[in-house]
Amino acid sequence: MSRVYNFSAGPSMLPEAVLRKAAEEMLDYEGSGQSVMEMSHRSKIYGTIIQGAESLLREVMNIPDNYKVLFLQGGASTQFAAIPMNLMTKNKKADYVITGQWAKKACAEAKKYGEVNVVASSADKTFSYIPKLDPSTFSKDADYFYICMNNTIYGTVYHELPDTGDIPLVADISSCILSAPIDVTKFGVLYAGAQKNMAPAGLTVVIVREDLIGNAMDITPTMLDWKIHADNGSMYNTPPCYTIYMAKLVLEWIKNEIGGLDKMYELNQKKADLLYHFLDNSKMFRGTVVPEDRSLMNVPFVTDSEELNTKFIKEATERGFVNIKGHRTVGGMRASIYNAMPYEGVKALVDFMAEFEKNNG
Ligand SMILES: *Cc1c(COP(=O)(O)O)cnc(C)c1O
Repeated sequence: MSRVYNFSAGPSMLPEAVLRKAAEEMLDYEGSGQSVMEMSHRSKIYGTIIQGAESLLREVMNIPDNYKVLFLQGGASTQFAAIPMNLMTKNKKADYVITGQWAKKACAEAKKYGEVNVVASSADKTFSYIPKLDPSTFSKDADYFYICMNNTIYGTVYHELPDTGDIPLVADISSCILSAPIDVTKFGVLYAGAQKNMAPAGLTVVIVREDLIGNAMDITPTMLDWKIHADNGSMYNTPPCYTIYMAKLVLEWIKNEIGGLDKMYELNQKKADLLYHFLDNSKMFRGTVVPEDRSLMNVPFVTDSEELNTKFIKEATERGFVNIKGHRTVGGMRASIYNAMPYEGVKALVDFMAEFEKNNG
């Protein structure tokens, strides 16, 4: 068996130790004689899994008691509608910052349910930066303020949060959840599709402050009402059982193998520094994002020639660096270096890039 270095933006790599553990437990989970895939979600043994996953997430992310953790389906994209339906209910107004496709889609969905003020956008330069925000342009009476924290496609991240005062800050953290410590108290809602940095596809985590639950619009489908899921401990209907189990294994790996989010962040910085340092010194490759807004998770880069980009992607793939083609709106390459990508993977990529530059320069 040989495993590749997988730079996919999502679904993406999982820690090898987690996959091995899941394989070991595949046919018989802890003496139950069943796979986790086969269990009733109402069984006592499955209860230990979902409760274990929640308490580990609370511990690892330091989530305060006045926040609910919901394990849902439908992907981050379903929350694009759930957010306005649950929150746009007092003044029917929200502020959005447009930093890429995901923020744009979330914003378009919100427009169906109320008044949306686009505070700022970085569309003018293909979303290669995070716009400077001026609080005097924020709506004083918005029901919430929305950002996409890490922009998976464009490789930008907020290093500083907007100061929204009493207005709840809502953030899509799909591609940066568990990559670094985060002060949950600064947010009203944090949410993420799991398939980038947490688990396989199928699970969406919503972390929501309690006072923001229970005000959903009358038209809200039952399945999109956070109160229904909060009141039922994410068991209103069948939760994504196996994916929650995988998330639990990933959280155990972060806690026990890595040593928590401070350590995870250190490792992620080390990996990203290595790649950005190479890009900044290369005569052939360059990063597409302004240095101050660079993501630690998604690193888009290009050469000045379409032909070289294509050649690089082809040769990289042959050498076992897969899924490194950039998003069609940016072109070139993108290396997603989530938690599960080992330092050695980034080192091997950088060595290969240096070799390619030497042979083609
Ligand atoms: C991948 C991604 C999404 C979409 O997630 P789905 O679970 O496929 O709906 C939304 N936001 C961000 C930041 C993403 O990276």
